[in-house]
Amino acid sequence: MRREPRVAADLPVPAGWRAGLLVGSGWMLWRAPLAVMHRIVAVTVCWLILVGVAAAGPRPRWADVETFAVFLGLGSVAVVLSARLGVDLAVAHTPRHDLLASWALAVAVLLPPLFPTVIGLPLCWLAGRCEPARPPHLRVFHAAALGIAGFCASSVHLLLSPSDGPFTVDSLIGSSVATMAFLAAVAVHPVLVGLAGLGMYRRGREDGLGAWLGETGPRPGAFPGPAAERAEALPTWAAETCSAIIVAVLWTVSPYLMLAVTPPMLLLQRSLLHTELLHAARCDAKTSLANPAYWRQVAQRELDRARRTGRPLSVLLVDIDHFKQVNDRFGHLVGDLILLAVADALRAATRPRDLVGRFGGEEFVVLLAQDEPERPLDVAERIRRQVAGTSCRLDGRPPLSVTVSVGVATEQGPPGDLATLLSRADTALYQAKAGGRNRVRLADPLGDPLSDPLSAAH
Ligand code: GH3
Ligand code: MG
Ligand code: MG
Repeated sequence: MRREPRVAADLPVPAGWRAGLLVGSGWMLWRAPLAVMHRIVAVTVCWLILVGVAAAGPRPRWADVETFAVFLGLGSVAVVLSARLGVDLAVAHTPRHDLLASWALAVAVLLPPLFPTVIGLPLCWLAGRCEPARPPHLRVFHAAALGIAGFCASSVHLLLSPSDGPFTVDSLIGSSVATMAFLAAVAVHPVLVGLAGLGMYRRGREDGLGAWLGETGPRPGAFPGPAAERAEALPTWAAETCSAIIVAVLWTVSPYLMLAVTPPMLLLQRSLLHTELLHAARCDAKTSLANPAYWRQVAQRELDRARRTGRPLSVLLVDIDHFKQVNDRFGHLVGDLILLAVADALRAATRPRDLVGRFGGEEFVVLLAQDEPERPLDVAERIRRQVAGTSCRLDGRPPLSVTVSVGVATEQGPPGDLATLLSRADTALYQAKAGGRNRVRLADPLGDPLSDPLSAAH
């Protein structure tokens, strides 16, 4: 009889499992890696000190309180509406970038330090309520980072361009000194927000604890990787900063112009889903590896480049041995966890520039940008050993391990076509299975390409 699988809380190897289990536990600060916990505490304490310093400053003017209230209202409306707009498009339950910094930065260049130091707290609290994937300690951290950046941006602005009354368009950007001060404050804000979180998300992900950072999506090393994420982050940051400039300047022209600013801000927020949708279109949802269509697209591009440069390429086909028996004994949910563990092992045994994809079912495919001739066999052997050495403990059962067989097709000269490489790797995989499984086989260089298994499978 098949038993309902239960997974122990102290799973040994695959970080992704652990991440999945921790999601939704609310405050999880104490489970964080020490460096990350220190960062959150340090940033929060620093922010509280600055709140005290700002509160000890001059009494707030009534006009400033009114401006603050309007921006708080606009920011709140944007948070609530963008959460509603995005809800039907959301494909991953991950915290996504919000545009809170646009409102916070506008407040920083328009008002004395107290207001930008505290505006993050209500906005982040509201954003967290609208988007439960972000745990409370991260909301506080986000508010603290915005607060510190706001305090510094506002102080820099007032230092370089002292002003007694509320800013007008003239006092804000009416002279070159005022414009320089304005731009300096605008530049300070994102730099400080970035510094507060610098390395923190990477550390959390590397430790496999992205979950308590609020992540439920791609795991450490997951495709498409940090470089692609950084490339997506830059335009978002630029759009956020530019919208803050527009909002602040238009406010000084006329507060009524805020009516014209809010809809584009909402549209901008909605466009941030583009990254998420692109990721979903390219990624295999179960393993976060490249899906077959995207793998083929990138592999073809690499192949064309390799032909031009005369550089050889290799393809590895990896198939879990007797996987059907795992499903039959432990159920498909445990089978899925094994798929995840094998995907993690593949990521661990390859370099970020090697293209790892899920071929379909319990089969994976790796495209290796080859530097030296023996490397593909080394990588294949490393994958085989890594998987065989990974044991997954299920509640009340002995540790469970699986093995994989690997077929390797490599070419010493410029590669032929993708279908031929895949077909040869497939033939080698069958030889590895026939040879007893849990082994690596190198394809015969003169192997006969029968068909393209990737297109046959899909
Ligand atoms: P072999 O060593 O010859 O490869 O044997 P095998 O049992 O691994 O191969 P077979 O092709 O007989 O079975 C593959 C199994 O993979 C059958 C199918 O239920 C399972 N499978 C395919 N996709 C998934 C998936 O997404 N999740 C789970 N849990 N199982 C899957
Ligand atoms: Mg198979
Ligand atoms: Mg199999």
